[in-house]
Amino acid sequence: MNLMTLTIGLLGEHLENSLSPLIHRSFICHYSLNYCYLPFQIKTENLEKAIYGAKALGIHGLNVTIPFKEKSMGFMDSIDPAAEKIGAINTIVRKNEKLYGYNTDWNGFKEPLKKNMKIKLIDKKAIVLGAGGAARSVVFALAEEGCPVISIFNRSKDRALGLKRNFNNIFPQCEIKTFPFQRKNLQEEIDNADLLVNTTPLGSWYYPGQNPLPEEIKPPSKLIVYDLIYCPDRTPLLRWAEINGNRILNGKEMLIYQAAESFYLWTGLYPDQDIMTKILSKIRKKENL
Ligand code: NAP
Repeated sequence: MNLMTLTIGLLGEHLENSLSPLIHRSFICHYSLNYCYLPFQIKTENLEKAIYGAKALGIHGLNVTIPFKEKSMGFMDSIDPAAEKIGAINTIVRKNEKLYGYNTDWNGFKEPLKKNMKIKLIDKKAIVLGAGGAARSVVFALAEEGCPVISIFNRSKDRALGLKRNFNNIFPQCEIKTFPFQRKNLQEEIDNADLLVNTTPLGSWYYPGQNPLPEEIKPPSKLIVYDLIYCPDRTPLLRWAEINGNRILNGKEMLIYQAAESFYLWTGLYPDQDIMTKILSKIRKKENL
């Protein structure tokens, strides 16, 4: 490190399990850049001071993670139109003494479907489990790609309705339906769906062994099941889908694609497929240690 080193990093409340430092340091190393990526674990009450402090210190860019993706928007000088519509940012770029907010989660979500699984989302009916921050990026990406119907299942009704209202205005051509988690509704919607996306944390290390769906639900064979959770590799939802013979996708590729776009925003370099594949296998090996 020297005076010319550009600092980038991650702002969040609990960063113990974050894979972002590993991913970005691998990108930096691959391109031999004079950058360093640091985790900044802060308390919620210090968010404003941390963002303005980073601006004053000349920190070149930041990722923002749970629970700051919405709150940090208020401290930006400018917000990218997609992030504005989604209502959350996960990337900050400092340019000419100003802070610019972006959201790379929505592209990160759709790229693995398009590139790795060769799926065209136009005319596909989708189900989204959850209505939090990640669900907003997912619904934005699905509607933007031309999904005509999106059925949202969420525990709290108000959050689901808020999401529906927001995106009804932006995408009037997309029918957005909301439901409580009830078996009858789930089975009916799943019977007609092409894609099911889990954006709840059920099945992650915080909620191990939990499946957001009742095991008795039967998926149609065409259903693709996508769980945004990236650890473990196979959540109970994905195991259920696999047993039923459905195509599955976990959140690891999304994690890498959203990181790749953030990296591009800071450096102007979009990481090549080779390094992304190498990082994926590095993450898998780390998990199996
Ligand atoms: P969030 O804003 O807190 O939203 C969580 C959602 O899950 C809410 O809809 C919440 O319902 C629901 N939920 C939480 N606990 C639940 C429970 N016990 N039973 C039923 N529903 C429950 O979180 P987020 O930012 O959207 O993140 C959600 C997940 O996506 C996390 O596991 C995160 O790691 C993952 N994610 C992955 C990537 C990636 O790159 N792969 C990127 C972003 C997020 P209520 O509205 O009722 O509270």
